[in-house]
Amino acid sequence: MTLEQILHETFGFPGFRANQEAVCRAATEGRDVLLVMPTGAGKSLCYQLPAIARGGTALVISPLIALMDDQAAKLTAAGLRVARIHSGLSREDARQACRDYLDGTLQFLFIAPERMRVPGFPEMLAKKKPALIAIDEAHCISAWGHDFRPDYRTLGDYLPSLRPAPIIALTATATPTVQRDIVAQLNLNQPALFIHGFRRENLAIEVVEMSKPRRPEFTVKLLKDKENRPAIVYAPSRKAAEELAGMLGRGASAYHAGLDPQTREEVQTRFLSGKLEIVVATIAFGMGIDKADVRTVIHTALPGSVEAYYQEIGRAGRDGNASRTILLYSFADRKMHDFFLERDYPPPTELSRVASTLTDEFQMPDLLRQRARMDAETFDKAVEKLASQGAAAINIEGNVRGTGSTSWRKGYDEQVNLR
Ligand code: ADP
Ligand code: MG
Repeated sequence: MTLEQILHETFGFPGFRANQEAVCRAATEGRDVLLVMPTGAGKSLCYQLPAIARGGTALVISPLIALMDDQAAKLTAAGLRVARIHSGLSREDARQACRDYLDGTLQFLFIAPERMRVPGFPEMLAKKKPALIAIDEAHCISAWGHDFRPDYRTLGDYLPSLRPAPIIALTATATPTVQRDIVAQLNLNQPALFIHGFRRENLAIEVVEMSKPRRPEFTVKLLKDKENRPAIVYAPSRKAAEELAGMLGRGASAYHAGLDPQTREEVQTRFLSGKLEIVVATIAFGMGIDKADVRTVIHTALPGSVEAYYQEIGRAGRDGNASRTILLYSFADRKMHDFFLERDYPPPTELSRVASTLTDEFQMPDLLRQRARMDAETFDKAVEKLASQGAAAINIEGNVRGTGSTSWRKGYDEQVNLR
């Protein structure tokens, strides 16, 4: 079957979008790929179609259960043989998935990155090598990205044993630094690079200056209009999310990390299926959530970073139709963020500050130094002083100084070897 035939017959799409075809071709030929495309552009197809074209089993590493479940459900509905292994499933399910993987009956196996730390698991995968490896939300591997997951870091250790399969790394947000980091961490072999613009033509981005007390009323009024729904409203806290959801009434539910997994799952499912029109969420909601027809994304407070903001508004208008994103903002919000920034990243001077950053597993020296806001010389002096006091510390060259042993040290040694 040609790639086009698979596109029509398996996925039911009339044609490729943007560069999908070129990406699929490169991956099918067995090349490593780094694909950076905006949210909603259709990255999943770029590993799923080559996986089918190549035959065998594709191993997909994905950072979130919701994301895995969503993709697995879609592939299963398309008649493909799919299994998942994550903490939300029973041991027996996981065992069955492993058996099916070893029997070669699976076309897709989705796993969470932390699974690689389970003794014996990477060895099991290596026994029957995958035909393709996809790393979804690949920016999670980089400490320079906005969603760093330490578990992604360890992937680089295990991937060599799963070769020669091509590795496809996919993400929507990667600065050039993060892109380089992804290529280095995953040890991609002369990857084909597909980097696309971040412009979303169908999103109107509005910033409205408004005092805090007026925001709930504004939001309620705006979402009364059917044209503005379905909508995602981002609230700054669990409490704020609950309150606003209460004001919005029956068509709205809150979503935050304080709810039990079952409730969260339910809110998500009802939202995806269209039964629920408004979700008032904290940042806990959304990564990879693929709902095509979100018409409005409202931020009732300033997001933590521009990258986070980009991701969150990116959930609007995935179907390509005109959509609005509205940021409600005041000078006071900005002051609050400044306060948190100062608190989390106070000016350097104290040795203790350096010591505490050093206990952070897997961090790179450059990053440590930046966090501690020091020049290289001051940083190294601090490290030597710590070392002389019996601690273990890492200097700017990445060398371990001192004899103290801490849990981070082993992980760090591995990282240094990797680079
Ligand atoms: P991303 O991972 O880039 O955010 P997804 O892979 O989740 O995006 O795809 C977003 C939506 O676009 C999905 O609903 C998917 O089915 C749809 N899609 C992808 N490729 C095509 C295509 N060639 N034609 C039509 N729809 C597509
Ligand atoms: Mg995706």
